[in-house]
Amino acid sequence: MITLSAIGIGGYIGIAVGGIVLILLMALIIRAASKAVSQPTMEPIDYPELDKKVIGEHLSEALRFETISMVDAYKGKDEPFLAFREWMLKTYPHVAKEAELTVIAGYSLVFCLKGSDFDLLPCAFLSHQDVVPAPAKGWDYPPFSGAMGEDGYIYGRGALDMKDHLVAVLEGAEYWLSRGKHFERTTYLCFGHDEEPGQSLDGAPNIVRYFQQQGVRLEFVLDEGGSIIEGKQLFAKGYVAAIGATEKGMGDLEIVVHQEGGHSSRPMYPSANGILADVIRRIEKHPMRARMTPLLKQTFVTLSGATNPLFKFVLANADVFAPLLKVVLSKASPVTNALVRTTLATTVLWGSDARNTIANEVKVNVNFRTLSGETSEDVVKHLNKILKKYIKTGQVRIDLLAHSEPSPESRCDGEVFDTLTKSIRQTFEETTVIPYVFLGATDSRFYAPICDRIYRFGPVVMGWDDESRFHGINERIHPDKLARAVRFFVTYMDNACHAVD
Ligand SMILES: [Zn+2]
Repeated sequence: MITLSAIGIGGYIGIAVGGIVLILLMALIIRAASKAVSQPTMEPIDYPELDKKVIGEHLSEALRFETISMVDAYKGKDEPFLAFREWMLKTYPHVAKEAELTVIAGYSLVFCLKGSDFDLLPCAFLSHQDVVPAPAKGWDYPPFSGAMGEDGYIYGRGALDMKDHLVAVLEGAEYWLSRGKHFERTTYLCFGHDEEPGQSLDGAPNIVRYFQQQGVRLEFVLDEGGSIIEGKQLFAKGYVAAIGATEKGMGDLEIVVHQEGGHSSRPMYPSANGILADVIRRIEKHPMRARMTPLLKQTFVTLSGATNPLFKFVLANADVFAPLLKVVLSKASPVTNALVRTTLATTVLWGSDARNTIANEVKVNVNFRTLSGETSEDVVKHLNKILKKYIKTGQVRIDLLAHSEPSPESRCDGEVFDTLTKSIRQTFEETTVIPYVFLGATDSRFYAPICDRIYRFGPVVMGWDDESRFHGINERIHPDKLARAVRFFVTYMDNACHAVD
């Protein structure tokens, strides 16, 4: 017979704790099962009349215009933009005929396709015409040739960022208009011209000002952003489509170090360079705190419906496992790290201008990306804390330069969002659509004052090495992927803007 004394009081505590753990585990499993919902697959809609070859040729032509953002060495070089505009009007005659075109700030374009149902708020499809420079070195085909490579890909600067998207939007609209349809919802196609330099000042902000003057509010905005990847990269089945529901804020600041310098033949320590080196080391050793934003939790819960049982269990309970996830994501990769915190990167350095002179003043530029829930002021506060030692003595000063705060989070539920996700799943089979924080910056952030639902998504399946081609060498897209992007816009424009006779 086992008596109370035989088990011992410790044994009872053990059994009780074990029981509680088991109950908690069961509760989390049941919770995961209820939260991890797989998204229904949808019957893909095909448009057999879409001609992949013609669409590919259109992109090839678009890539030949050297629409490099007009800054630095390219200032004033506007002929490519004017020629590109002419090309659009010629290549998409129904859009040219039926849309009212307004040119903003000389080069940005707003095509307005007036809808027939004034009860529907208008919407806007965004894209930017400009590209970053592309020195020909290293390319298999010249970057402004739009060449069809031997591997069947179309090569050129802008093939992924984002003339593919711009062409696909125009193809989508042209498809319906050329069939004698029009949209019930007023539909704007807004193509900025200075997105790439990072601080578009003329294009997108002036387009939004124009809308404000017209009293236009938008039901939704779709711009570049997330894309489609093979699910296995995220331990999920099928494809995963990521829609940017917000984007991080960004800005620059300079950290200036003062310390007496002089001739290099009689150095004194620490030098301004020595202090600057320590400043940079401190920035890298003391990242800002990791946080699981509500949106990131939603990302994981949504993704959990497509993952294996173990991931399902953890991701569907992302709120419970937040402390663990924060640690894992911080370490897993630079991308996952950037999802959970405001990041700081030191970029440009300024030092002595002579080989034998120790500078009195040196400085470093810090480019930072702010996660929603924090502001540029928090970045400055953080730096003040980790550099306190030098700031107290006046050796270090922080100058905050141009910056913008994180954009508001767009709602990821309701009819507007559902129409977008449905259109994606009608284009790409077995796709799980997840909202997330987009790590880059887009023109769409300027639209926040006139629109609550801004989504950043490009309907292109990205290969494992495509990421490095953005702004890099051998930027390219396969015509099949481009044709699928067009199919998406044809479907989405019908679903969201209602193509009718
Ligand atoms: Zn872009």
